[in-house]
Amino acid sequence: MADAPLAPQRMHTYDERVTRLVLDYVHSRLSIPETPLDHPGQKAEVDAILDGLITVGGRDAADVLKLYDEHLSQTVLSADSPRYWAFIPAAPTKAALLFDMVVSAASLQGISWLEAAGAVAAENQALRWISDAAGLPQTAGGAFVSGGSAGNLSALVVARDTGRRKLVERDGEQARYQRLRVVVSDQAHSSIKNTLSILDVDPLVVRTPDHRFTGGALQAALDADDDPSSIVAVVATSGTTNAGIIDDLRGIGTIARERGLWFHVDGAYGGAGLFAPSARHHYDGIELVDSFIVDPHKWLFAPYDCAALIYREPWLAKAVHTQDASYLDAIHHDDGAYEWNPTDYAYHLTRRARGLALWFSLVVNGTQAYTDAIEHTIGLTHQVADDIRATEHLELIREPSLGVVLFRRTGWTAEDYDAWSAKLLREQKAFVTSSSWEGEVVGRFAFLHPGTTLDMVREVLAETA
Ligand SMILES: *Cc1c(COP(=O)(O)O)cnc(C)c1O
Repeated sequence: MADAPLAPQRMHTYDERVTRLVLDYVHSRLSIPETPLDHPGQKAEVDAILDGLITVGGRDAADVLKLYDEHLSQTVLSADSPRYWAFIPAAPTKAALLFDMVVSAASLQGISWLEAAGAVAAENQALRWISDAAGLPQTAGGAFVSGGSAGNLSALVVARDTGRRKLVERDGEQARYQRLRVVVSDQAHSSIKNTLSILDVDPLVVRTPDHRFTGGALQAALDADDDPSSIVAVVATSGTTNAGIIDDLRGIGTIARERGLWFHVDGAYGGAGLFAPSARHHYDGIELVDSFIVDPHKWLFAPYDCAALIYREPWLAKAVHTQDASYLDAIHHDDGAYEWNPTDYAYHLTRRARGLALWFSLVVNGTQAYTDAIEHTIGLTHQVADDIRATEHLELIREPSLGVVLFRRTGWTAEDYDAWSAKLLREQKAFVTSSSWEGEVVGRFAFLHPGTTLDMVREVLAETA
């Protein structure tokens, strides 16, 4: 008989001690009342910790976990801290975090109905909640993908190919080689620019004097263009990342319909505002979309990574994204029974059933809890704006929408903002990073966590005196 340590399945054998260790760690992490921000890391330091760690024979799990807890995790800024207001924070619910562990423990293969019917149906129930909030037809659907960038890419591939197909139907085979274009605003997220470059599609960039893309601006750009037939789609944003601005979805969508252009809305950050009655009117016209994304890992309180990608006519996406391979034939037998293969709706094959954490939390907590948490952020943002307006040396740059506040500290240079930011992080009061607005370096807060309080923000604003 071989020695026990040499058994090939020894890594796969249940180990009570290691299980306890890890679950205890998770338990203590989840029970911290306020997740600490922690600190940035220096390369030399983390390199020294990691040096030589991987060995032929392995190490004791307790030692490795201790090293992670005491050293590595201290150099990871916690996006789910209620004091994290840089970029776009995260605030996963406890239920969602816990269920994410269930998903990991179950090794769900979220590709197909055949492999994971119950999981796919539950994910689709969560997608339906989003789709209904946007007012899309019951036939709308899609899949959860890794992030907004993956969602934008997957949707715009369908937009391009659908547009190309229509052009070929109209103009014949030569249209297959025509260069295509997509209308975007100068405020579109960086992932849109990258997507168009990957797709080898040219952007028609519309300037937005007021940072908000409108139907009027789209109309003017189309009227002024000398090759409108090469344009296949238009992208609007429902909540710009830098300022939370929601484009004129009704105006843009109406023109897109009239012109037969694919209408994609990037709501990666701001799409969650659909669930806030106080903000819902800003999204008027969203029901006109051909495709729409929202990142539950941002303002819908899901763990990383999770983006919802929804199509008005999912069969168009299926025609583009379905992967054809003999070994996959078994998942594609369409016998008329309900069958939904998430793999068919985006650029991916193997996928984590990443929508399940959102689904579990939504079912457990109920939709009102989501609405209340989102409204809390919007309310806090208005209070902070009032405070800034009332402070002599601070200026509000624009009336905030959603959870983003841009402001100016009169007299400050980029270095002053940096010094302020570094001190706040050192003292663990907040993680903030400056941004730019019309060429000027400005202060920016992005609120999202329902645990963020006005007192926390006041403490930070006081440091600008
Ligand atoms: C965050 C964001 C993205 C990118 O999403 P990822 O999940 O980071 O890939 C795209 N668009 C907007 C408007 C965003 O806020």
